[in-house]
Amino acid sequence: KQYTADEIRSMAQAEQVAFLRLMFTDINGIIKNVEVPIDQLDKVLANKATLDGSSIDGFVRIEESDMLLYPDLSTWLIFPWNSEHGKVARLICNIHMADGTEFVGDPRNNLIRVIKKMQAAGFSSFNIGPEPEFFLFKLDEKGEPTLNLNDNGGYFDFEPVDLGENCRRDIVLELEKMGFEVEASHHEVAPGQHEIDFKYADALEAADDIQTFKLVVRTIARKHGLHATFMPKPLEGINGSGMHINMSLFQKGQNVFYDPETKNQLSQTAMYFLNGLMEHARALTAINNPTVNSYKRLVPGYEAPVYVAWSGKNRSPLIRVPMSRKQGTRLEMRSVDPTANPYLTIAAILDCGLQGIKEQKDPVAPVNRNIYTMTEEERAANQIDDLPSTLHNAVKALKRDPIVIASLGDHIYKSFVDSRELEWSAYCQTVSSWERKQYLKRF
Ligand code: ADP
Ligand code: GLU
Ligand code: MG
Ligand code: MG
Repeated sequence: KQYTADEIRSMAQAEQVAFLRLMFTDINGIIKNVEVPIDQLDKVLANKATLDGSSIDGFVRIEESDMLLYPDLSTWLIFPWNSEHGKVARLICNIHMADGTEFVGDPRNNLIRVIKKMQAAGFSSFNIGPEPEFFLFKLDEKGEPTLNLNDNGGYFDFEPVDLGENCRRDIVLELEKMGFEVEASHHEVAPGQHEIDFKYADALEAADDIQTFKLVVRTIARKHGLHATFMPKPLEGINGSGMHINMSLFQKGQNVFYDPETKNQLSQTAMYFLNGLMEHARALTAINNPTVNSYKRLVPGYEAPVYVAWSGKNRSPLIRVPMSRKQGTRLEMRSVDPTANPYLTIAAILDCGLQGIKEQKDPVAPVNRNIYTMTEEERAANQIDDLPSTLHNAVKALKRDPIVIASLGDHIYKSFVDSRELEWSAYCQTVSSWERKQYLKRF
């Protein structure tokens, strides 16, 4: 809802809000907060709250560090949980330069830019339905996370094995108090692993929702003596955590991915959009799977994609077309994991899809066989590429893809690549226990 400044003033007063959290997201997808007492509300509403941009990863150098927080008034929300010092409300902000111009390095501003491009192309909304998965680990006496799972449950299991169920139910209740429409919540395949799906929303709101969701999950888990992690592959030998992204384009409230006249009931627009995702899949991986650990998930055998392929029939490929049609017609990108910065991921996939629509190339054929049982030759004959196998390879693919680079804009692209290369080089300098086990005695 688009509130006015006056409405926000009166809600803050009526609810006796004591603190205001100004939230934004850095390049690496980390939520940042500036908390101010409520007597600063007028200043905040006048876009005068400041921020030292040089202290935020990937923002600016010290010389240009004074930045402004412009709150998006539609994101006003009072956190439902109690705090000792009174109620806390939040506003999600866009970052502006000291002279008032938009800061191009802000991921949220960048997503707004790509959404405007979509509107200019004649579409009214890009609907995003995320399926975030996470693990719950026990906390120790000091409140530090352990690697002990809280349960031994499996997919759709009930209590008593699913001890995390109480916690998950509590999370769902809090989300609903905050206006989320939770469609499904269940135990996932791996022990200690959970999934909560909420109803799709337009791109910007969906990205905000994903950030808020992660915050709520972590906060409520802690109240249950648990640590919630969105790390893609916390434990070896069992499934990792993905964040499938369901997507569709709407025009005046109608789903333009749906066409009852075609064989698979997907419109030409949907097929072109799909082409864009397929063509740029390797470069998109750097954004959708931005950590070293992301690539430990993208291996065969754990329901995560490894090859660049799409299908309406099986669940293993990178892009699946779920059965649902009419308003539910959608594409599901299955590679994305919860470490992705949702603003960057959504901007990049939207821009690639729009590029596909612009280019109008013949559709790529689906692969309805199990790709994992194909030989390398069969995959080559079917022109099935693989996804990058490491962060290093993904960043290399990104550097070669001008379309995906443009979807981020130069500033974000440069800071993103710098930060990912730094992470990769730090990782390369470590020696793991796996290596010692393999080599210490053998050589
Ligand atoms: P799966 O079959 O992969 O388990 P789910 O049913 O769990 O999928 O998740 C469906 C997600 O897709 C939900 O977030 C839902 O709101 C979303 N969704 C439904 N219709 C659309 C649509 N037209 N565009 C985008 N997302 C959609
Ligand atoms: N956990 C799986 C993954 O890593 C997905 C399981 C599912 O299909 O929901 O993507
Ligand atoms: Mg799942
Ligand atoms: Mg799914």
